[in-house]
Amino acid sequence: MGKITKTRHPSKIEQYNIESLTKGILSFDIPSLARAITLIESNLEKHLGLSQTLLHRILPFTGNSIRIGITGAPGVGKSTFIESFGTYLCEIGKKVAILAIDPTSSVSKGSVLGDKTRMERLSRYPNAFIRPSPSGGALGGVARKTRETILLCEAAGFDVIIVETIGVGQSEIVVRSMVDFFLLLIPPGGGDELQGFKKGSVEIADAIIVNKADGNNIHLANITKQEYLQALRYLLPATEGWTTAVLTASALENLGIEDVWKIIQDFVDNTKNSGAFDRRRKEQSLNWMHLLLRDYILDSFYRHSKVKAILNEMELDVLNGKITPTAAFRKIIYSMKNENFIGFE
Ligand code: GDP
Repeated sequence: MGKITKTRHPSKIEQYNIESLTKGILSFDIPSLARAITLIESNLEKHLGLSQTLLHRILPFTGNSIRIGITGAPGVGKSTFIESFGTYLCEIGKKVAILAIDPTSSVSKGSVLGDKTRMERLSRYPNAFIRPSPSGGALGGVARKTRETILLCEAAGFDVIIVETIGVGQSEIVVRSMVDFFLLLIPPGGGDELQGFKKGSVEIADAIIVNKADGNNIHLANITKQEYLQALRYLLPATEGWTTAVLTASALENLGIEDVWKIIQDFVDNTKNSGAFDRRRKEQSLNWMHLLLRDYILDSFYRHSKVKAILNEMELDVLNGKITPTAAFRKIIYSMKNENFIGFE
């Protein structure tokens, strides 16, 4: 078995021809795009270098899409909505890429988002590209891969890039940090939850869509919409100069889908004119670099053999009340000053 892996491995690495991948991506060749994403998702050191070369080549062709984040609790209708919305966009001639960040896929093997059986109708459109969430690894790594995938999709010529996630933990904040426009899907009813856990999601949304506004739910959906409009009056807008929109829609019956696109176009016109659009993108790029630096430094620090050794000792001393946490922290840092560790030179 070992032998098979050894002989197959190098040829797999050599498969990536950056020149032809670049050409393929720039001419909207979907198999090339998919291969490039696989390269970016690889954790092999050799692939990291190659993928950066590729990204460097395509960078001048990026930045021209509208990046939309979509969140909502499981069952609220995200995939149904994305299918309707994506289909609408394809019908009006747009090229649409759907990416996902699924925090559950790194915890367990099962994924809530992005499996292939979802969005079957949309996947039949040649202008639609659906890519499941990169699996495994910490959220930081998944985020890096998704950010770079956005760049690849833009170079390929996608007009709209949708990044889907579920309202769990940090994943919404991570998606907010890589998109221009952030959409929150909610079900009819439950406006009273606004005081609690939903507030965080509402605060970062540029539009809130009360989905499932059909059949017997229409009245309730309108009440929910009013409740959210009221509550938003007391919150700061998620984007400077933009008033968070609240709409009702039915993903299942294709109602209100066009209005969502109108709102997004309004948002883009508005924020491009005011400069807020470009400012956010620039901030996002800088924050991304700093995040990478922070992750790298933290990781190297905790992996350092000297840190590992002294950390155990200090943890015990803190637990046994022998030393204060501050004194322990100072001892650890002091011991690293002699190690030429990055950041302590
Ligand atoms: P997700 O988990 O957020 O992706 O939700 P799904 O898109 O899988 O939808 C969950 C369930 O809600 C499915 O049974 C859908 O058919 C249903 N659903 C989604 N959108 C609507 C809608 O607009 N109206 C109604 N009545 N049902 C919907």
